[in-house]
Amino acid sequence: MPDAAPIAAIATAPGRGGVGVVRISGQNLASVIAAICLPQEGSAARELTPRHAHYLAFCAADGSVIDRGLAIHFPAPHSYTGEEVLELQGHGGPVVMQLLLRRVLEAGASIGVRLAEPGEFTLRAYLNDKIDLAQAEAVADLIDASTEQAARSASRSLSGEFSARVHALVEGLIRLRMLVEATLDFPEEEIDFLQAEKAQQQLSDLLVSLARLREQANQGALLRNGINVVLAGEPNVGKSSLLNALAGAEVAIVTPIAGTTRDKVVQTIQVEGVALNIIDTAGLRESHDEVERLGIERTWQAVANADVVLHLMQAGQARPEPLIEALAVRLPKRAHVLEVFNKIDLTGAAATRIAGQSVSLSAKLGDGIDLLRAELLESVGWHGTAEGLFTARERHLRSLDQAQAALDRAQTFAALGAHSLELFAEELRLAQQALNEITGEFSADDLLGVIFSQFCIGK
Ligand code: GDP
Repeated sequence: MPDAAPIAAIATAPGRGGVGVVRISGQNLASVIAAICLPQEGSAARELTPRHAHYLAFCAADGSVIDRGLAIHFPAPHSYTGEEVLELQGHGGPVVMQLLLRRVLEAGASIGVRLAEPGEFTLRAYLNDKIDLAQAEAVADLIDASTEQAARSASRSLSGEFSARVHALVEGLIRLRMLVEATLDFPEEEIDFLQAEKAQQQLSDLLVSLARLREQANQGALLRNGINVVLAGEPNVGKSSLLNALAGAEVAIVTPIAGTTRDKVVQTIQVEGVALNIIDTAGLRESHDEVERLGIERTWQAVANADVVLHLMQAGQARPEPLIEALAVRLPKRAHVLEVFNKIDLTGAAATRIAGQSVSLSAKLGDGIDLLRAELLESVGWHGTAEGLFTARERHLRSLDQAQAALDRAQTFAALGAHSLELFAEELRLAQQALNEITGEFSADDLLGVIFSQFCIGK
C-alpha cells in the first residue's frame, strides 16, 4: 500500500495543448501555495479562496516567473481525492509542465511531496470513501472508452448507478439474513423460517433482481471490451471492402488506443456503438524477418482472444479451408465461426442470413451488410441497446456469477427444510460477500449492527 505523502503529477495528457494541469494532493499544502503562487500586481489576496480560480504567476525558487495561469485550491475533504488538493493550470507545453512539476516537488520537499503513481489520485479517492471500487474502475473505463456508448455507460457507472444496483441487492440480502439469523439465535421462539412465505418471496425477488443485473452487466462488459473479430480469407475476397462497408460512417469516431490490444494488428470500427476490434489475418504468413515475425506472433495472440471469426469467401467459389484449420488450433473455445459469402452481385443471389452460420452479401453494393451487423452482434449476445447500461468488467461478472451460484445453492437448502438453515444462512453470507467485492466493501460484520438496530430483542 502506498504511503500517505502528498503526491503531485501532470494531470493532462502528454504533448502540447492549450492548457496543462499540475495536480497536488495531500495535507498542509499552504507552504507550497505560498512558495509558488504569486498574486498578480494590484491583487491584495495572498490566500486562495476555496474552489475559486485565481489568476496568478507560478514562481521559480529565484522569484522568476515560470508561467501564468489559474490556481484552484480544494481544502479537504471537498476534492477529488478527499484530501487537500491544489491545481495549477498553466500552458500545456511539455517543457513548461515539467518545469512546473519540478518546482512543485522542490517547493514541497519539506512536506515530502513525491511523484504520484499511476492511478494514485483515484486510489486515494477510493481510500477516502469519495468513490467505491466500481466507480474507481469506471474512471479508467471512461478515459479508455473507444465508442460514445462505452463512454456514456462508464459515465453512468461513475455516477454510481451500477453501485446503487449492487447496494440494493446487498440490502435485500441483509434483510433476508436478518430473518435467518434471528431464527438461528433464538430457536426457542420456533419461527419456522423456511416455511415463512416472506423469506421465500424475498429470495425469489433477489434472484430476479440479480438475473437482471447480470444481464445488464454482461451487456456493459461487451460495450467496454468490444467484440474481437478475426477476419480470415484469401486475398481479393473483399476483406477491406467489407471492413469499410461495416464501419460505414461511424468509423471516424473510433480512435486507436496505444498500449491496448487495439494496436497495429487490430483495427477498431464501431457498429451500433459496440467496438469491433478487427484482427486481420493477412499478416499471418511464413516469415524469416524478425520484425515481421514479432508482428505475426502478436496477431496470433490477438486471435487467442477472438469472440468471432468471419470466414470471408467469394460466393459460388470453392471454400479455402487451410487458414480456418490453422486458426482453429489457436481460437478460444467460445469463438463462433461465421461464414460470409461476398460478391453476390456477381452471381445474382439474394442477400441471406442463416442465424449462427452464414451471411451472403455484397460488400460493394452494401447488400446484406445489415444482416451481417445483426448476426455479429447477436452472436455475442448483444441485445441492441446501450440505453441505461453501465460499464462492467470481468471482475464484476465473476462476482455476480458467484453471488448467483450462492443464491442458487441457498434455494436448494431452503427446499430441504429447517435442518439446513445454517447452510442456507452461509450461502446468503457468501452471496453478500461476492457482491460487496464489486464495490470494495468487505465489512462482513456490519450485519450485526443492522440486526441489533432493527430487531427488538426484548420481545
Ligand atoms: P481483400 O484483398 O480481401 O482486402 O479484397 P478487397 O476489399 O481489396 O477487394 C478485392 C476486389 O474485389 C476489389 O476490386 C473490390 O472492388 C472487389 N470487391 C469487393 N467486394 C465486392 C463485391 O461485393 N462485389 C464485387 N463485384 N466486387 C467486390
